[in-house]
Amino acid sequence: DCLPFFVEGEVVKGFGRGSKELGIPTANFPEDVVRSMPESLKLGVYYGWASVDGGPVLPMVMSVGWNPYYHNTVKTMETHILNKFKEDFYGLTLKVIMVGFIRPMENYPSVDELIKAINSDIALSKEKLSTPEARDFQRNNFFSSQP
Ligand code: ADP
Ligand code: MG
Repeated sequence: DCLPFFVEGEVVKGFGRGSKELGIPTANFPEDVVRSMPESLKLGVYYGWASVDGGPVLPMVMSVGWNPYYHNTVKTMETHILNKFKEDFYGLTLKVIMVGFIRPMENYPSVDELIKAINSDIALSKEKLSTPEARDFQRNNFFSSQP
């Protein structure tokens, strides 16, 4: 498949589905970035590294799903960075390396089930990112190069 995948773009407003209220804010990439992704990119949850505006390279989990706004014909990419930020970072550049795939997309019967699934994604992501192969990507030049 197409992993690892390197992607960057401006952080834009999502649909305000209340990710932040669930304690799991997700930074959305703009439409053109998502459209430029390979067709073969599977829907589901990925783990990898992320950096905002040239800042520290941090672990992330990303969901690739369907955008309800386009009647599920266009994908969305939403990155949750495993870090506490003092402020929102809309408008800044987000760089991401998608290192591996965790699981396909699923529908959960309740918000509680969804949060449980995401918490297990986060735990798995931390585990996978601790391997030497995954840590090499944290130091990748992609994160130090200027746009
Ligand atoms: P939206 O629907 O606009 O994407 P969210 O509730 O998903 O709203 O919140 C996403 C925003 O929260 C991001 O665009 C970013 O500015 C901010 N944010 C704060 N902390 C994080 C984090 N740890 N990971 C991702 N985004 C974060
Ligand atoms: Mg979001």
